[in-house]
Amino acid sequence: MSRFLSERFRSARPYVPGEQPQGGQRYIKLNTNESPFPPSPRVTAAITAEEVEKLRLYSDPDARPLTAAIARRYGVDGRQVFVGNGSDEVLAFAFLAFGSGGKAFRFPALSYGFYPVFARLFGVEFEAVPLREDFTIDPADYIGCGKNVVIANPNAPTGLALGRRTIGEIARSNPDSVVLVDEAYVDFGGESAVPLLGEHDNLLIVQTFSKSRSLAGMRVGFALGSPGLIGDLQQMKFSFNPYNLDRLAILAGTAAMEDEAYFCACTEKVCATRRRVTGALRALGFTVLESKANFVFAKPAGISGEALFTALRARGVLTRRWDEPLIRDYLRISIGSDEEMDAFLQKTAEILREAGA
Ligand SMILES: *Cc1c(COP(=O)(O)O)cnc(C)c1O
Repeated sequence: MSRFLSERFRSARPYVPGEQPQGGQRYIKLNTNESPFPPSPRVTAAITAEEVEKLRLYSDPDARPLTAAIARRYGVDGRQVFVGNGSDEVLAFAFLAFGSGGKAFRFPALSYGFYPVFARLFGVEFEAVPLREDFTIDPADYIGCGKNVVIANPNAPTGLALGRRTIGEIARSNPDSVVLVDEAYVDFGGESAVPLLGEHDNLLIVQTFSKSRSLAGMRVGFALGSPGLIGDLQQMKFSFNPYNLDRLAILAGTAAMEDEAYFCACTEKVCATRRRVTGALRALGFTVLESKANFVFAKPAGISGEALFTALRARGVLTRRWDEPLIRDYLRISIGSDEEMDAFLQKTAEILREAGA
């Protein structure tokens, strides 16, 4: 830290991303919930030499073909769509727009680690509410709470989901607050709140191309909401970085959104593999939460979470673990390809056997 850093950022605690190994050893990478499948072939086809030549020109600040494709896919008006450089940017603009120097945010204490980071960065007051003992969110903590609400649904890193009716109740009972639903994982079996958009002008739904559309490296995310809320996000963006999506991201995102068949095939495959892995881990004695996401959150029996995490890493398998009181013995394991998950299960069984677990 230099002596020049502003006083208010000196105690900042930035988000810590999962490890992205570079070169060297080849890992089975089950630590950041990426898709095991490549992007749609239409994405490759869209990025032509001609489009690369056009990189000398700025991108469209309204990202038009992409917003139109998203609006068509979700049956909403173009004015109800905001696109960002990954959904992290969309979330950042939402915290800035609706909380900075204003209303407090409330979100679960165990959820996406970026929420408190954004809140501190932008000077947003927040309340982190503990989950119930079984890791579920208690809707009563949010119904009529009078605060801005952020709920990841399905939640991270548990994979547990709330039903659409509950989200509707939270939105209805907080008419003067923004209810932001982060649906990063909704395509793997959750119930999206998109059909509720017409009923609630305070509902903001955030989704990403990083997980279910295999474009984590392209950085494309979006929000759906009332034209008023979307306009507020636009105001943040045009005060910060009008060209927030580059030309290739707009092309890739559009192509991915338009390939519904490929999207369905990939998400169905991940769900089938998740069911199989859940069963196999339970057979090995693990406690496995009922995930509606592209990962499972699981606790081994007879060995600590840390020991299993370390032993898997030594055998070339990366998973994610947090050294925090309630979850230190859990690993979050992304759902990879069938081959990757077979290797993971085999190595896990070996480690348990060697530990005498
Ligand atoms: C992965 C993830 C995001 C961020 O996704 P990007 O679009 O890659 O920025 C947001 N929210 C949750 C809950 C996530 O797991």
